[in-house]
Amino acid sequence: MPFDQTGPENPATAVAAAPARTADAGLAQSMRPSLDLAAGQLSQALRRKLSHELRAALEAGTLALHYQPRVTLEDGRACGAEALLRWNHAKRGNIPPGLFIPIAEASDLITDIGGWVLRQATREAAGWLQNPAARQVPAVVSVNVSARQLRGGVLLGQVARALEESGLPPERLELELTESMLVDGSADTLLTLAAIRDLGVGLALDDFGTGYASLSVLKRLPLNTIKLDRAFVRDLPHDAEDTAIVRAVQSIARALHLEVVAEGVETEDQRAFLSGIGCDEAQGYLFGRPAAAEHLRKTLREG
Ligand code: C2E
Ligand code: MG
Ligand code: MG
Repeated sequence: MPFDQTGPENPATAVAAAPARTADAGLAQSMRPSLDLAAGQLSQALRRKLSHELRAALEAGTLALHYQPRVTLEDGRACGAEALLRWNHAKRGNIPPGLFIPIAEASDLITDIGGWVLRQATREAAGWLQNPAARQVPAVVSVNVSARQLRGGVLLGQVARALEESGLPPERLELELTESMLVDGSADTLLTLAAIRDLGVGLALDDFGTGYASLSVLKRLPLNTIKLDRAFVRDLPHDAEDTAIVRAVQSIARALHLEVVAEGVETEDQRAFLSGIGCDEAQGYLFGRPAAAEHLRKTLREG
């Protein structure tokens, strides 16, 4: 039975309502903990049901990836794309990843989903390279990964298998990690990430600035990219604190030889500011919304 569109059991309503209940709705909306909170607001029974339905969708092959272009600020060229998981439920409609990912992360379901995302994204990205026009752009595909995939070295095996099956050159794949995955800095985590880097795959720190990681994470981990969370981008260029933070992140990143990707760029003013301070790349609705692979292929051809 479909969810009542306005009822508390409708996951989409719950996710939209959750941030409004926090003290700083704007900031919380862009933060992962608020998404966990939204998923946490669903009843245990509904979470279990969604988890089973998500497993069924994975097995039936009805999950899909959308891709959002990432552009070079210097010339606006599409230099890559982030794979974002989409679940169009037959009866309940589109369920946002902010709601179903935390549910999947509560069990090993996320590991199986993560493996599928890696295989699908590398297969599709390898397909873009078949297009002679697209070959001119360094089409890096970015894939979000979850903490559980790092357990017991699973992620390394998944990455190696996806690269082998797809034939995608490793330097065209980048993994997006979050600060919370890295705070413990365990030897296991560091070894796995170093092994993945040794394959030639890139590592990005996603949602930078919203988690608990300290600057030491930037020093210890074999990262090449920082993705600046959109909480810091939203009020550019007017907010004095955000402009100071973004400039500081930019100069730390440069000193550490890391690229900065600004997330959630929606306006021309934000783009101009970021470009002016030497930020390398950006992603956001101003350049393109997440869309099916076919649509992205057109963007890359035109880019
Ligand atoms: P994320 O990795 O930080 O992805 C960026 C999110 O910001 C996406 O939301 C994207 O649609 C949204 N976004 C991009 N540009 C703009 C903009 O200009 N303005 C605004 N307001 N939003 C923008 P989406 O697709 O709902 O994904 C939410 C989160 O779900 C992702 O955040 C990521 O943490 C997680 N996620 C998505 N796909 C996967 C996946 O395959 N595996 C894992 N583990 N997590 C995933
Ligand atoms: Mg991401
Ligand atoms: Mg992000």
